[in-house]
Amino acid sequence: MKLICIGRNYTEHIKELENEKPTDPVVFLKPDTAILLKKQPFFIPEFSNDVHHEVEVLVKINRVGKYIDKKFAHKYYKEIGLGIDFTARDLQAQLKAKGLPWEKAKAFDGAAVVGNWLDKSEFENVNNINFSLKKNDELVQQGNTSHMLWKIDEIIEYVSKYFTLKIGDVIFTGTPAGVGKVVANDKLKGYIEDRELFSITVK
Ligand code: ZN
Repeated sequence: MKLICIGRNYTEHIKELENEKPTDPVVFLKPDTAILLKKQPFFIPEFSNDVHHEVEVLVKINRVGKYIDKKFAHKYYKEIGLGIDFTARDLQAQLKAKGLPWEKAKAFDGAAVVGNWLDKSEFENVNNINFSLKKNDELVQQGNTSHMLWKIDEIIEYVSKYFTLKIGDVIFTGTPAGVGKVVANDKLKGYIEDRELFSITVK
Protein backbone atom coordinates (compact mmCIF):
# COMPACT_ATOMS: atom_id res chain seq x y z
CA MET A 1 0.00 0.00 0.00
CA LYS A 2 1.00 3.58 -0.41
CA LEU A 3 0.45 6.86 1.39
CA ILE A 4 -0.47 9.75 -0.89
CA CYS A 5 -0.01 13.15 0.71
CA ILE A 6 -1.29 16.56 -0.26
CA GLY A 7 0.72 19.65 0.64
CA ARG A 8 -0.44 23.27 0.94
CA ASN A 9 -4.14 22.48 1.13
CA TYR A 10 -5.10 25.07 3.77
CA THR A 11 -4.59 28.79 3.16
CA GLU A 12 -3.45 29.64 6.70
CA HIS A 13 -0.73 26.98 6.63
CA ILE A 14 0.52 28.22 3.23
CA LYS A 15 0.91 31.67 4.80
CA GLU A 16 2.81 30.41 7.86
CA LEU A 17 5.44 28.69 5.69
CA GLU A 18 5.45 31.64 3.24
CA ASN A 19 4.70 29.32 0.35
CA GLU A 20 2.92 30.31 -2.83
CA LYS A 21 -0.67 29.19 -3.26
CA PRO A 22 -0.44 26.34 -5.75
CA THR A 23 -2.47 26.16 -8.95
CA ASP A 24 -2.50 22.35 -8.67
CA PRO A 25 -2.38 20.26 -5.52
CA VAL A 26 1.14 19.53 -4.24
CA VAL A 27 1.45 15.74 -4.10
CA PHE A 28 4.08 13.48 -2.59
CA LEU A 29 4.22 9.85 -1.46
CA LYS A 30 5.39 8.02 1.62
CA PRO A 31 6.21 4.30 1.55
CA ASP A 32 4.47 1.86 3.91
CA THR A 33 7.66 1.72 6.00
CA ALA A 34 6.91 5.33 7.08
CA ILE A 35 3.91 4.18 9.11
CA LEU A 36 4.54 4.44 12.84
CA LEU A 37 3.70 1.07 14.34
CA LYS A 38 0.78 1.02 16.76
CA LYS A 39 1.68 1.77 20.37
CA GLN A 40 5.25 2.67 19.43
CA PRO A 41 6.79 6.04 20.33
CA PHE A 42 7.93 8.38 17.59
CA PHE A 43 11.73 8.66 17.60
CA ILE A 44 13.15 11.96 16.34
CA PRO A 45 15.61 10.93 13.60
CA GLU A 46 19.26 11.84 14.14
CA PHE A 47 19.40 13.80 10.87
CA SER A 48 17.01 16.52 12.03
CA ASN A 49 16.83 19.11 14.79
CA ASP A 50 13.47 20.47 13.72
CA VAL A 51 10.80 17.82 13.24
CA HIS A 52 7.32 19.33 12.96
CA HIS A 53 3.91 17.80 13.58
CA GLU A 54 1.31 18.25 10.83
CA VAL A 55 -2.08 16.88 11.82
CA GLU A 56 -4.16 15.76 8.83
CA VAL A 57 -7.47 14.12 8.02
CA LEU A 58 -6.95 10.72 6.37
CA VAL A 59 -9.02 8.84 3.83
CA LYS A 60 -8.72 5.09 3.34
CA ILE A 61 -9.31 3.82 -0.19
CA ASN A 62 -11.52 0.72 -0.37
CA ARG A 63 -11.80 0.14 -4.13
CA VAL A 64 -9.32 -0.02 -6.99
CA GLY A 65 -9.61 2.98 -9.27
CA LYS A 66 -7.93 5.10 -11.90
CA TYR A 67 -9.19 8.35 -13.50
CA ILE A 68 -11.93 8.62 -10.89
CA ASP A 69 -14.36 11.46 -11.57
CA LYS A 70 -15.02 13.57 -8.47
CA LYS A 71 -18.74 12.79 -8.86
CA PHE A 72 -17.97 9.12 -8.11
CA ALA A 73 -15.05 9.60 -5.71
CA HIS A 74 -17.25 9.04 -2.64
CA LYS A 75 -17.65 5.40 -3.72
CA TYR A 76 -13.92 4.81 -3.23
CA TYR A 77 -13.70 5.37 0.53
CA LYS A 78 -15.70 4.32 3.54
CA GLU A 79 -13.45 5.36 6.40
CA ILE A 80 -12.08 8.67 7.61
CA GLY A 81 -9.19 8.94 10.03
CA LEU A 82 -6.61 11.25 11.45
CA GLY A 83 -2.84 11.16 11.40
CA ILE A 84 0.39 13.11 11.50
CA ASP A 85 2.64 13.88 8.58
CA PHE A 86 5.90 14.30 10.52
CA THR A 87 8.27 16.57 8.63
CA ALA A 88 11.97 17.24 9.17
CA ARG A 89 11.53 20.94 8.42
CA ASP A 90 15.25 21.77 8.44
CA LEU A 91 16.02 19.05 5.92
CA GLN A 92 12.94 19.91 3.85
CA ALA A 93 14.09 23.57 3.68
CA GLN A 94 17.50 22.48 2.35
CA LEU A 95 15.91 20.19 -0.24
CA LYS A 96 13.38 22.83 -1.30
CA ALA A 97 16.13 25.43 -1.72
CA LYS A 98 17.92 23.08 -4.12
CA GLY A 99 14.70 22.09 -5.91
CA LEU A 100 15.16 18.49 -4.81
CA PRO A 101 12.45 15.97 -3.84
CA TRP A 102 11.22 16.02 -0.23
CA GLU A 103 11.23 12.31 0.53
CA LYS A 104 14.13 12.28 2.97
CA ALA A 105 12.33 14.94 5.04
CA LYS A 106 8.86 13.39 4.85
CA ALA A 107 9.05 9.66 4.13
CA PHE A 108 11.49 8.38 6.76
CA ASP A 109 10.56 5.51 9.09
CA GLY A 110 7.87 6.55 11.55
CA ALA A 111 7.00 9.78 9.72
CA ALA A 112 3.37 8.76 9.18
CA VAL A 113 1.01 8.38 12.12
CA VAL A 114 -2.20 6.60 11.13
CA GLY A 115 -4.79 6.73 13.89
CA ASN A 116 -8.02 4.82 14.36
CA TRP A 117 -10.66 4.93 11.65
CA LEU A 118 -14.26 6.15 11.75
CA ASP A 119 -16.99 5.09 9.37
CA LYS A 120 -17.88 7.84 6.90
CA SER A 121 -21.56 7.31 7.74
CA GLU A 122 -20.87 8.93 11.13
CA PHE A 123 -20.49 12.26 9.38
CA GLU A 124 -23.28 14.28 7.84
CA ASN A 125 -20.78 15.93 5.52
CA VAL A 126 -17.13 14.96 5.07
CA ASN A 127 -16.50 18.55 4.00
CA ASN A 128 -17.39 19.82 7.45
CA ILE A 129 -15.29 17.82 9.92
CA ASN A 130 -13.56 19.49 12.87
CA PHE A 131 -10.21 18.07 13.85
CA SER A 132 -7.42 19.06 16.21
CA LEU A 133 -4.08 18.19 17.75
CA LYS A 134 -3.07 18.63 21.36
CA LYS A 135 0.56 18.69 22.43
CA ASN A 136 0.99 18.04 26.15
CA ASP A 137 -2.73 18.77 26.59
CA GLU A 138 -2.47 22.16 24.90
CA LEU A 139 -4.36 22.77 21.67
CA VAL A 140 -1.78 23.44 18.92
CA GLN A 141 -3.61 22.79 15.65
CA GLN A 142 -7.23 22.84 14.69
CA GLY A 143 -8.97 22.76 11.37
CA ASN A 144 -12.16 22.03 9.52
CA THR A 145 -12.23 20.15 6.24
CA SER A 146 -14.43 22.89 4.75
CA HIS A 147 -11.26 25.03 4.60
CA MET A 148 -9.43 22.66 2.25
CA LEU A 149 -8.46 24.23 -1.08
CA TRP A 150 -9.05 20.82 -2.67
CA LYS A 151 -11.83 18.80 -1.04
CA ILE A 152 -11.55 15.03 -0.51
CA ASP A 153 -13.40 14.08 -3.70
CA GLU A 154 -11.36 16.53 -5.77
CA ILE A 155 -8.13 15.13 -4.30
CA ILE A 156 -9.20 11.61 -5.31
CA GLU A 157 -10.00 12.78 -8.83
CA TYR A 158 -6.65 14.55 -9.10
CA VAL A 159 -4.30 11.92 -7.65
CA SER A 160 -6.02 9.05 -9.50
CA LYS A 161 -4.96 10.62 -12.81
CA TYR A 162 -1.39 9.81 -11.84
CA PHE A 163 -1.61 6.78 -9.54
CA THR A 164 -3.93 3.80 -9.57
CA LEU A 165 -5.61 3.79 -6.18
CA LYS A 166 -5.60 0.41 -4.48
CA ILE A 167 -7.51 -1.01 -1.54
CA GLY A 168 -5.84 0.10 1.68
CA ASP A 169 -4.07 3.14 0.25
CA VAL A 170 -4.27 6.15 2.55
CA ILE A 171 -4.55 9.79 1.53
CA PHE A 172 -3.17 12.51 3.83
CA THR A 173 -5.24 15.56 2.96
CA GLY A 174 -2.97 18.37 4.18
CA THR A 175 -2.44 20.29 7.39
CA PRO A 176 -4.02 23.47 8.75
CA ALA A 177 -2.02 26.21 10.50
CA GLY A 178 -0.20 25.66 13.78
CA VAL A 179 2.53 23.22 12.76
CA GLY A 180 5.41 23.19 15.21
CA LYS A 181 8.46 21.45 16.53
CA VAL A 182 8.30 18.33 18.68
CA VAL A 183 10.84 17.44 21.36
CA ALA A 184 11.49 14.34 23.43
CA ASN A 185 8.71 13.49 25.90
CA ASP A 186 6.03 15.46 24.05
CA LYS A 187 2.65 13.74 24.03
CA LEU A 188 0.55 14.23 20.91
CA LYS A 189 -3.15 13.45 20.83
CA GLY A 190 -5.35 13.80 17.76
CA TYR A 191 -9.09 14.34 17.68
CA ILE A 192 -11.89 14.34 15.14
CA GLU A 193 -14.70 16.30 16.77
CA ASP A 194 -14.28 15.07 20.39
CA ARG A 195 -13.07 11.55 19.56
CA GLU A 196 -9.44 10.75 20.34
CA LEU A 197 -7.99 8.83 17.38
CA PHE A 198 -4.34 8.61 18.33
CA SER A 199 -2.04 9.27 21.26
CA ILE A 200 1.71 9.06 20.82
CA THR A 201 4.86 9.92 22.73
CA VAL A 202 7.93 11.51 21.19
CA LYS A 203 11.36 10.10 22.07
ZN1 ZN B 1 1.48 17.46 5.40
